[in-house]
Amino acid sequence: MRTALLTALCLFAACQAPDLRTDDTPADTPLPPGSDFEGPAFEFEEVVPGIYHARGTGSLAVGSHGAVIVNEDDVLLVESHISPAAAHAVVNEIEALTDKPVRYVVNTHFHFDHAHGNQIYPPDVHVIGHEVTREMLVNGGSMGRSYQTFLGGLPAQIAALEERIEGIEDEEERTEAEGMLAYMKNYQAGQDATVPTGPNTTLSERMTLFRGDREIRLLFFGRGHTGGDVVVHLPAERVIVTGDLLVPGLPFMGDGYLDEWVQTLEHLKGQEFDWVLPGHGSPFQDRERITYLQDYMRDLQAQAVALHAEGLSYEEAAARIDMTDHAERYPQITGPGVSAVAVLRVFELLDGGS
Ligand SMILES: [Zn+2]
Repeated sequence: MRTALLTALCLFAACQAPDLRTDDTPADTPLPPGSDFEGPAFEFEEVVPGIYHARGTGSLAVGSHGAVIVNEDDVLLVESHISPAAAHAVVNEIEALTDKPVRYVVNTHFHFDHAHGNQIYPPDVHVIGHEVTREMLVNGGSMGRSYQTFLGGLPAQIAALEERIEGIEDEEERTEAEGMLAYMKNYQAGQDATVPTGPNTTLSERMTLFRGDREIRLLFFGRGHTGGDVVVHLPAERVIVTGDLLVPGLPFMGDGYLDEWVQTLEHLKGQEFDWVLPGHGSPFQDRERITYLQDYMRDLQAQAVALHAEGLSYEEAAARIDMTDHAERYPQITGPGVSAVAVLRVFELLDGGS
């Protein structure tokens, strides 16, 4: 069945057919482990002409959202996603949008769901990220606490589901559970095949690419969601791709620098753009969301600092911190208590961590 599925995928992705775009991009290489899925892995929303927001369809774990920027002669992708399989899928599937080759990939930051597909790119593709992003990917930082929090439990979840399936008698329920099991095993296969790989091109402050009539700015405004968040700004098209530095809701804060993040967002506010293409959530235009996030983070930081001074543990502090003043802007807030990992991170920095 696996072989049949892979054959079907090859037909879909035209991996046996001559590739007009190029003969050395990853689309021509064999499918990486973790490519056992049906249907497209990505959907592409064209936000302005030639600039797409790339989102997973649910058939394959792809991690973050990304962006596809089609230039006069080539393509720039933002993010390599969560595995070599996911990275390969996006390269194959953009054939529906363009026949131009991928020549640039930008990692907005080091997190596994954004950058763990880097290994599929040959040396002549510029994989670009901040110096900190390279450091974290090369030295194991992308497999650290945050990775373990999200994915460390996957093997145990697979084992538990396998055990549960044995006891399911209803055929429909069993088929559904088996589909989930196949998805999770494929996810694990993609993880097992992942070798975190740093960008081959780095920046510390800014870099500008001129591709045909496009000016593409890669900008670092200071630490925020991580120590090396890069945004991709197209000033003429008035689009900014923000990774997890700015998302429509509340971003993950477990590797962040909350107090500096507020200031970094202030710099972001100074840029000219109409559209934000985030690493999670849908594209949006409402600039007020930047202020909402700054307000939230200032408040969270202040409460965490006060409770740290009182000597509370991070778990106690996380349970006590009350962000209900922000509930109108963030409907998931239904009472006191915040993400423990966000508070752990604030405490870690207060205790001299980096
Ligand atoms: Zn992230």
